[in-house]
Amino acid sequence: MLKKFLKYIAQTSDAPIGLEISHAEGPFIFTTDNKRYVDFISGIAVSSLGHRYPKVIHAIHEQVDKHLHVMVYGEFVQKPQVDFADLLTSNLSEQLNQVYFVNSGTEATEGALKLAKKYTGRTKLIGFKNSYHGDTHGSLSVTGRDVYRDPYLPLLPDVHFLSFNSEDNLDLIDDKTAAVIMEPIQGEGGIIPADKQWLQEVRRRCDEAGALLIFDEIQSGFGRTGSLFAFEEYEVTPDILCLAKAMAGGMPMGAFVSSAEIFQTFKYDPPLNHVTTFGGHPVSAAAAYANLKELLSGNYLQRAKQIEQITKEKLRGPGIVEVRGKGAMLGLQLKNWDLTKKVVEDCFEMGILLGWTLHSNTLIRLAPPLIIEDDLLHEVLDKILESVEKHS
Ligand code: PMP
Repeated sequence: MLKKFLKYIAQTSDAPIGLEISHAEGPFIFTTDNKRYVDFISGIAVSSLGHRYPKVIHAIHEQVDKHLHVMVYGEFVQKPQVDFADLLTSNLSEQLNQVYFVNSGTEATEGALKLAKKYTGRTKLIGFKNSYHGDTHGSLSVTGRDVYRDPYLPLLPDVHFLSFNSEDNLDLIDDKTAAVIMEPIQGEGGIIPADKQWLQEVRRRCDEAGALLIFDEIQSGFGRTGSLFAFEEYEVTPDILCLAKAMAGGMPMGAFVSSAEIFQTFKYDPPLNHVTTFGGHPVSAAAAYANLKELLSGNYLQRAKQIEQITKEKLRGPGIVEVRGKGAMLGLQLKNWDLTKKVVEDCFEMGILLGWTLHSNTLIRLAPPLIIEDDLLHEVLDKILESVEKHS
């Protein structure tokens, strides 16, 4: 099967992990050669309730028995979409009161950028160094890492990058700016939370300039940081919120959320100027509704905070610079690339899936599912620590 995978599946690098998957359940992934791996990255911040969460699976079955795709997004009244959008917006601030469904994170970014340009009638966009917003052209245009941008130049014009958590050049946010886009906690940049005061200052600058503030919570959303959304802890509300990944319990789905007033602009000049065939697929929407209901009714947010506390207390010692991040969106900063590589390899041998973030090779991503129990959490952390000590 691996041979066929390498032959027929277009590859993203010369070094795919290459596990042959049999099935996945809760915090575990099982391979066809009967090995069990603890998924300590949740499929990159997707399966926050673990794999195949029973209520999500049930909702999927129920919807599959009713209907699959029936019409492009926005034309027919489909109950799973309406239920989910209702529940989602009732858990957001008042001005985030309408949802536009898409299929993925990058499509949410694309939609948000178009919406901001059309609503403001402006073109200038501000992003941040080391950010990541997706790999389609618009998203890549506001992603702050040249090595990924350079092969695709020219990208969107009039995009400017500021330093994250720095007051420098905030005056670039001016009356020509359509939007400022940022992750409240940079994910691929190395799990870097925004400073609260700085974020509030960015909001203030946007208000002054009449620019929209877009938060990309594609990675940090849906409970991963210990709040339903990371921005809640900043006392700052964005004009547009981008979501995906953990949204639908392992099904593909993305969304951007804004106000009915801002969304008006998508309806005319011309009508249908932003369409998506599969956006808000009914099976994904049913899964997302079940997933969110469960997230809100269980103690998962609190659990994310416990995971942070246990992990930060435990992972200390030689070779470790720090554990940073919030909730279960954590990064283990190690001294160098060699150590990072050895620890990831060692843990893989021991049946633990870890990885690094796209823009950093000395940081190990720790993103366990929020359903992980104490015994397993401690077991994994002990093994990571053991490996760091062995190679330091
Ligand atoms: N924004 C952020 C912050 C992300 O972490 C990601 C995915 N890693 C994306 C956007 C793109 O999401 P997708 O892969 O679903 O297009």
